[in-house]
Amino acid sequence: MVQKQIKGLNLDELTLLCEENNFSAYRAKQLYHWMYRHGVDDVKQMENIPDDMSDYLSDRYQFKTLEVENIQSSKAEDTKKILFRTHDAKFIESVSMIDKNLHTVCISSQVGCNVDCKFCATGLMGFSRNLSCGEIVDQIIEITKLREEPVTNVVYMGMGEPFLNYNQVIKSAQILHDPHGMNLGRNRITISTSGILPKIKQYISEGQPYKLAISLNATTDKTRTEIIPINKKWTIDMIMKELEKYPSDKKNMIMIEYVLLKGVNDTIQDAQRLSSYANKLRCKVNVIPFNDIGNEFSRPDEQTINRFIDVLHKNQRHYQTLVRWSKGVDIDAACGQLSTAHHD
Ligand code: SAH
Ligand code: SF4
Repeated sequence: MVQKQIKGLNLDELTLLCEENNFSAYRAKQLYHWMYRHGVDDVKQMENIPDDMSDYLSDRYQFKTLEVENIQSSKAEDTKKILFRTHDAKFIESVSMIDKNLHTVCISSQVGCNVDCKFCATGLMGFSRNLSCGEIVDQIIEITKLREEPVTNVVYMGMGEPFLNYNQVIKSAQILHDPHGMNLGRNRITISTSGILPKIKQYISEGQPYKLAISLNATTDKTRTEIIPINKKWTIDMIMKELEKYPSDKKNMIMIEYVLLKGVNDTIQDAQRLSSYANKLRCKVNVIPFNDIGNEFSRPDEQTINRFIDVLHKNQRHYQTLVRWSKGVDIDAACGQLSTAHHD
């Protein structure tokens, strides 16, 4: 019998599944709780599910969508990169970072990515397929089993462009946020996009409660189009106009990500333009010194990075400035270094 995926179904879908198969509707809540609250993927271990129901479901449904293929541990900090294999033998990576009492998991939303940013290893591997909601939440469930510390934060900053897999990404975030699911606060879930304008509009108009991060990465359309080709269609001004509609508050500020590339976007003028964009929003500016992926780009020297940050600090009115010295550089787990091209 061909098995279907049950992981990723929300409560309404599980209720329908129970009703269609003549199980009481309240069983859906129990299944939901076991799957997402307790991370149990063997239906036989779900104590309050009767035997006839667990036999029926285990014959027809897969409760686990991913297998751990490999784990790499950083020597410098408590960061691990996990390589997962999907049922159709695709490979994706996630990163688990523990720092004091924070356990942040960086998850993938697609196998590869077709946005083609020139500085990103995932972009260079091309696109294979979207991940299902089940595969997205399973990255966190599997990492919870591997680590002692509970997951406190989730960032959609691994492989893929989350807004090109909008429905599955939003559905997974709902399960992460739901008090009956993984119960993570809305401010502990961050979705990062390279600027897919129609989906940014949809996200804001739907009032999605999760943190939004935008990879701006350049301050002129000319440079941005060179390094992020979709900027030709959706320009900086078009994105800014949309972001100005975002209802930022102290607890929920937009994050502007800015990968600092030597000789491309690292001048004082760039820093000034970036601060004037940021001052129009209530936001955090996250400067990410480029992480090497073995192509033509490189990281500016420390003096240039510090000069850039100084200008941001000096002009800071409505934003905060952060520098993200990425974790896991020694295991290629840092921002933009995720790629499973060699596993295909
Ligand atoms: N596709 C989404 C999320 C994944 S990329 C997006 O582009 O926003 C997560 C972050 O890593 C983005 O801000 C991206 O600009 C940054 N990034 C990509 N390649 C990088 C690299 N080589 N060094 C540093 N940051 C990089
Ligand atoms: Fe895709 Fe983001 Fe990498 Fe660009 S930076 S290629 S959108 S994963």
